[in-house]
Amino acid sequence: MIDYRKIGLKVGLEIHRQLDTKTKLFCDCPTESVEDAEEFTFVRWLREAQSELGEVDPAAQFEAKKKRKIVYHTDKYSTCLVEMDEEPPHDINREAVEIALTAALLFNSTPVDEIHVMRKIVIDGSNTTGFQRTCIIARGGWIEVSGKKIGIQTICLEEDAARILEQRRGEVHYDLRRLGVPLIEISTTPVIDSPREAYEAAYKIGRLLRATGKVKRGIGTVRQDLNISVEGGALIEIKGVQELELIPKVIELEVIRQLHLLKIRDELKKRNVTEDEIISQPIVDVTEVFSNTKSKIIKKKLDEGARVLALKLPRFSGLIGLEAAPGIRLGAELAGWAKAWAEVEGILHTDELPNYGITSEEVYKLREKIDAVEEDAVVLIVDEYERAREGLEYVKIRAVEALRGVPSETRAARPDGTTVYMRPRPGAARMYPETDLPPYPIPSEYIEELKKKLPKTLDEVASILSEKYGLSKQIVDELIDSEKVELFEKIVKETFLQPSVVASALTEHLKSLKREGEKVENLREEHFVEFFHQVASGKIAKEAAIEVFRWLSRNPDKTVEDAINALGLLAPSLTEIENEIAKLVNENREMVSKNPGKAISIIMGHLMKNYRGKVDGAVLYKLVSEKIYGQKDRN
Ligand SMILES: [Zn+2]
Repeated sequence: MIDYRKIGLKVGLEIHRQLDTKTKLFCDCPTESVEDAEEFTFVRWLREAQSELGEVDPAAQFEAKKKRKIVYHTDKYSTCLVEMDEEPPHDINREAVEIALTAALLFNSTPVDEIHVMRKIVIDGSNTTGFQRTCIIARGGWIEVSGKKIGIQTICLEEDAARILEQRRGEVHYDLRRLGVPLIEISTTPVIDSPREAYEAAYKIGRLLRATGKVKRGIGTVRQDLNISVEGGALIEIKGVQELELIPKVIELEVIRQLHLLKIRDELKKRNVTEDEIISQPIVDVTEVFSNTKSKIIKKKLDEGARVLALKLPRFSGLIGLEAAPGIRLGAELAGWAKAWAEVEGILHTDELPNYGITSEEVYKLREKIDAVEEDAVVLIVDEYERAREGLEYVKIRAVEALRGVPSETRAARPDGTTVYMRPRPGAARMYPETDLPPYPIPSEYIEELKKKLPKTLDEVASILSEKYGLSKQIVDELIDSEKVELFEKIVKETFLQPSVVASALTEHLKSLKREGEKVENLREEHFVEFFHQVASGKIAKEAAIEVFRWLSRNPDKTVEDAINALGLLAPSLTEIENEIAKLVNENREMVSKNPGKAISIIMGHLMKNYRGKVDGAVLYKLVSEKIYGQKDRN
């Protein structure tokens, strides 16, 4: 177990959430896409770093290095000339400003007197302009997490970027429809000191934002960035953690990564490796070593005209492949830089060789060719000559960083909680004013008005709902946290089903399916609505919920009707059930007259075997009782 306080863990959160406004932040396009709209594409080329910057931003430089074709996909309903950067931005969306200010007040934050829209350089193509528009709405404030106050630094309003669809060498595809959707960004001070606390803070922020009733829900509407550092390590920015539950794991793994890199630094020091020694290493073409190779991956590339280039890392042997946790090793760091900067597919290194069909004889020849002894490591890249050379240059730079410890950088979160190198951290010179828009004043009277009509917090909402529907606070909280309150209320209102039945299906059942590994996120609102309508009309039993939801999460394009047919869940007709009951009563007529209570339970046992999930047990019980007691009276 890592003692997070002892190692000086400090985490700051940046939570981004889309606002549910009618139109985008700087134009009148809707924030919801029109389904089945005809798509069109247009192409732009990545522009060079802007000269108006004065000093060159490292993150901008990183992107500008790549000559890339950018293909935007969109439709005429979701984008106008503003998104295409052919028209200046319209006035800032008042609805979005009001939501952001309301949220700011819920965070005890102080609104600004005047909104100044700024341009933040982003030139990876996710913005057609080469920058993202952003503005500070409020400063300061705090939230309370388990008795501890966590400060809020700023609350910003910004335009969402285009969504990346596909990326390959020299070409990247974006969905432009998302560009311009208003995003609120809540940044905390970096005072969070454990993975658990980070989770709780993010949870709290999410609940406060949702109290506005004006944030979007579902996949892709929330993005969580983490700033993480440990004593002696570096500030690492991790982008795009989608799920709340993943936050603690990302932090744990990042701590392990930083501690591992510090350990490697100390070991390299012990081995007296110097910066000059690494920098002066030549990059050597070793293709001939592999001229008769049995390695399929190398042979395939050589046939395509690739070369094998090698770099010796003096006295690095054993340190590149050394793993601190799955995927966390220096080799992954070296590969990350080479992939991101030179767009190579990856690296090979002697800590993992012989392997991949590369023989020990080839490794021996390789070492001989590049003059590497046992203590040295050799890194290989197989690619076009220039690209491989460039990739190894970055491996070299990253290897130098290993002598210093942890390089400060921006990393991207992956769904398993590990992260991958993305780009250098942006410099301070990244922002400059948006000259197309005048400052937007926020009168203090307006703020006073907003203060008077602040929405209820979700804790207050939970108490009200639990009272109204006779549900436990816990189940109401689960509905709130899974963002199913509106769906729940809609279903109860439309079907008159018991609230507890609907609530437990929407919480407990989904949780148990998720535990089984089913993709319950595939289920759509109309699935639930349709299911409960079928229950209300007596077509299927509420007990069928689990079966139906499981089937639909595997067949998300299908309907509840399809599920009922596929699973054979259609409730039998009343006549059919009555005939079955008559048959069973007849078979058990001795017991019926001797001990009707026992007879009922025997017959119920038979019926439930046949009708479980198809007919409500209570309905069956009523029918059987009526039949038996009716029968008895006649005898
Ligand atoms: Zn537009």
